[in-house]
Order: sequence, then C-alpha cells, then structure tokens
Amino acid sequence: MPNEGGQRQAQLDRLRQRYAEKLPRRVAELREAWVGLGADHEPLERLRSLMFIAHSLAGSASTFGYVALGGCARRMEISLQQALDQGVLDDANKALLGALVDDINELGNAPPDGGLAMVLGAARSHEEPDLASVFVVDDDEALAQEIAIRLRDYGYAVNIFVSRREAEEALAQRRPLALLLDMDLGKGVHEGPQLIEQHFKLEDSNVPVIMISIHEGWRARLSALRAGATAYFTKPIDFPGLVETLDRMTGRSKAAPFRIMVIDDVEELAQHHAEVLRGAGMEVRAFIDPFEALDQLAEFKPDVLLMDLYMPECSGTELSALIRQKPSYDSLPIIFLSVENRLDDHLQALRVGGDEFLLKPIRADHLNAAVSIRAARFRTLSELMRTDGLTGLLTQITTKLQLEELLPLALRRKTPLCFAMLDIDRFKRVNDEFGHPAGDRVLRMLARQLRQSLRRTDVIGRYGGEEFAVILPDTPLREAVRLIDDLRASFAALVQQHGARSFHVTFSAGVACSEQHPQMDGLIHAADRALYRAKDAGRNQVCMDASTRSTESGSSQNEGADGATT
Ligand code: GH3
Ligand code: MG
Ligand code: MG
Repeated sequence: MPNEGGQRQAQLDRLRQRYAEKLPRRVAELREAWVGLGADHEPLERLRSLMFIAHSLAGSASTFGYVALGGCARRMEISLQQALDQGVLDDANKALLGALVDDINELGNAPPDGGLAMVLGAARSHEEPDLASVFVVDDDEALAQEIAIRLRDYGYAVNIFVSRREAEEALAQRRPLALLLDMDLGKGVHEGPQLIEQHFKLEDSNVPVIMISIHEGWRARLSALRAGATAYFTKPIDFPGLVETLDRMTGRSKAAPFRIMVIDDVEELAQHHAEVLRGAGMEVRAFIDPFEALDQLAEFKPDVLLMDLYMPECSGTELSALIRQKPSYDSLPIIFLSVENRLDDHLQALRVGGDEFLLKPIRADHLNAAVSIRAARFRTLSELMRTDGLTGLLTQITTKLQLEELLPLALRRKTPLCFAMLDIDRFKRVNDEFGHPAGDRVLRMLARQLRQSLRRTDVIGRYGGEEFAVILPDTPLREAVRLIDDLRASFAALVQQHGARSFHVTFSAGVACSEQHPQMDGLIHAADRALYRAKDAGRNQVCMDASTRSTESGSSQNEGADGATT
C-alpha cells in the first residue's frame, strides 16, 4: 500500500481529535469529584476516586499533546497520594489541589501546547526481494563452489568471488541479495570485516551479511558483528541452517507479524498505542475491558501484553496475577505502561509477573523497540520448546496438541479433517551409505518441501526419527490423498546430492479422515495402519485408510531409486 503511513497518521490525528473533544468532559468530571470532596472529613474513598481521575488524565493528556495539563494532573495525583498515605488532607495540600483544579480547568479550554509525544516510526516496507543473486566471497574456491551448489538447490542465484578485489569490483557495480563472506579471505581475521566496512555501505544498502569463519571464538564473532554482519557460521557449514537464515533475512520466509494485546481503560490511549504498534508492522488488538482481553487470550495468542497499570475494574497488577495463574501463560511477556514512577509500584508490578515498566507518555520508537524485542524473544523461546531442532517442524507432542484442538473444531463445523503419516523408505540405507549428516540433510529437505507445499493452516510435525505427520483441516479424504501423493512424487524426483554422488529417496504414507474416525487415537491409528499397508505393498506410495472401503489411491510404483546411487 503506497500511502499506508499517511493513513496511519490520519488515524492518529482522528484519535487526537476525539481525545480533544472528550477532554472538557474529563475535566468537568475531575472538577465535580473535587467539589464533591466536601469541606472537612473527606472519606478516603472519595480521595481515591479523585486520584484515579487525576491519574488517568495525567497519563493520557501528555500523550495527546496537553503537556501542561498532564503535568498539573500529575501533581494532583502525587499530592492526593500523599494525603492518602497520611490519612488526612491538610490545608496546604487542599489549597494546592484547588489551584491545580483551576489550572486544569483553564488548560482544558486551550489548544494543546505540546507536539504529539508520539513520533510515528517508519512503516515497515513489505517490498518483495528483488531477483538479485547471493554473493559468495571465499578464497577457498572448492568451498565457495559447494556453497553455490547447495544454495542453487534451494533456488538462489549465486555469484562466486575468490578474492577481496574481485568482490569489491562486483559490489561497486550492483547490490547483491545477500553477502556470504569468508572472515579472513586467507589473509587474517580483519579482511572480511574490513571489506564490509570500507566498501559496503550497509546503512543504506540493507543487504544482509553472513560471515563464514573457521574461528569459533567470541572475539572473532564480535568483530564480525561490529562490522555489520547479521549472522555468523563456522566451518564446516551447517547448510540447512544457512539456508534457513538466508530465507529469513531475504524475506523468503516471512514470519507472521508480532501479535500484541493492548489494554487501557482510556479508549483513545489504547487505540493510540495500538496504531503506533501497527505502524511498525505489528498485529494489535486493543481493549478497554480487561475481562474481554482475558477472554480473547487463547484465540488471539498474543506475543506481548501491553497494559495500563491503573484501571478501575481490575488493575494491571491484578490482571497479570490472573494471567499468571494459568501455566500456559507463564512466560507471556507483560509490559506495564503507566505515569507512575514510584519504585514501590514498579517492584509490586514486577513481583506479580510483569516483565517491564514503561512510563507514559512514551515515544513511538521507544514503545516499538520495547514491545518488539520482548515479542521476538518470546517467539524464539516458544518455538524452541514447540519445534524439533533438526527440521524446525513441530514436535510429536505439539502436533498431537494441535490435533486435539483442531479435531473437535472440525467435528463441530462438520468439515472433514485428514491426518497423514509419512515415513521415509529404507532410510537406514541412506545413513549407512552416505553417513548420518547426509541423512539429516534428507530430513531437512523433506521438511522444507512439506512447509513450502502445504497451506499455512495445515500442521506439519516430525513425529519420530524419519516419520512425519500432517494435519489437513477442511480437506476431504480423496483430496488429501491426492495432495500427499503429489508431494510423494515430487520428493521422489528430487536429486539428493552427496559430494560427487547423487541418489533419490522416497517416502510412503497413510491417510485417514475424521469422518470415519472422530476420535483422535482412532484417527492416528488408522493413518498408521494405512502407512504400513503402503510399506507392505512395496513402498513409495500413499494408501487411504481401509475403513472407507473404497479403492486405494496413490501411485502403485514400486520402490524405485530409493537408496540407489549413480
Ligand atoms: P522402512 O522403509 O521400513 O521405513 O525402512 P527404514 O530403514 O526407513 O526404517 P527403520 O525404522 O528400520 O530405520 C529408520 C532409520 O532412521 C534408523 C535411524 O538410524 C534413522 N534415523 C532416525 N532418526 C534420524 C535422524 O535424526 N537423523 C538421521 N540421519 N537418521 C535418523
Ligand atoms: Mg522408514
Ligand atoms: Mg520408521
């Protein structure tokens, strides 16, 4: 969208406008509460509710540009807190409060005196990567060639340069998609970093740099980092890992945007922070009702909760204590946003499970950074727990948990859900003949193919060693069998490379459907039985669950080239 930034700015302006329109009412509310305090024996409850109004005003007014008004409200809040602590509102305090109420009254009728505290961050560009090639710069030509072959396997265009001079000449001409750079280029550890620093203006080129090095130590990593390298791989290179990093850096595998829940009882403020975060590419839901937010936790699956500390119905500290009672939200990051900067409140908020404390008003870049850093770390950690280290697919447990969620949903909606079990044929032979690392590479190839071919809503898991499971919601049995069989055919056609030798690997699969097997265990067993029929029938084929009593689909090819070498 060309003018997304402009639209967001307009939306923020509307929020500010709405806030300005509501401000006189908020000020009147404050004045009424003040007048209502009465002459002498102020009940503490009234003092507290006046303090709450002042607090809410202090937090929101300065965010929307009413800086002086926000300051007065803040001073009111402090002095009311003092009165509450002492249990009495003395005359001096009362006089001060009266003066502050008058000031606020006046300022509420004046235009805002400050700029918007929020500076809009540049909206993240969604531009597709261009067709440029990856530059591989390494004086070890054999290694450079091997890298090139591997990357081309994965669809990357690659150019090789075996000296710094060659690389510099090419860099002067055009911009690569990414740069894979040997740390020392045969001349010492400074060579690679110097090349980046001197001839490659990273700040304006945005080109990801991956350093390749024989040096394991932290010092070498640090100097690569300082020079601007975004990733660091030691030799021998973990190719699938390298490809995944490249995919991520070049935007081929776009991670879903961070999901953020914003909870603030002042609606404009909730919307305002939500807009700012959206401007940085995040997906945001804003709530003024904490209970509604709680209800939506399971479905929205936020990466971060950003909440106001003081809310009338349920305070931020209470809300986070409620959330932490559920083990599944144990590690969900919670960031408090408040005008309060008293150490006691910070400590109390952290004690009940808050992770960070931010002060209102907050600059957009500060808010975006604080939220996205937490979200990224949370994503990484939960991925590590949910996924298999070798393939990046879901673990068996997580796959089963997903099935446990999706199966009842499919039954309720009366839509067919299919479960497929895949098992690589004669995989032991691959390991025996080419070694375990070659076997691992085959597993990653299959994982990557599954990920690329299936829909986002499908669930893919590594079920065991060389066994995979796929959940296909909204898919009739026949269609699922056809889909898995297409995958089977294209995987069997892939040329697996091991040094100068090449070979093919196949898999067998069994598919079952929720329409015949509404119970989870029954569904899994049916798919498993079908898989074993496929194995018995000669492998490299897909079998449909027999309880449908229909003809089997899938290829009837016998095991062909599996394990065969050339
Ligand atoms: P079948 O066609 O009957 O499935 O034959 P198979 O050789 O694939 O089956 P089997 O279950 O006898 O052997 C599976 C092999 O998979 C044995 C094990 O060494 C290998 N394997 C399991 N996990 C991994 C892994 O993570 N990496 C590698 N390289 N091999 C693995
Ligand atoms: Mg097997
Ligand atoms: Mg097996």
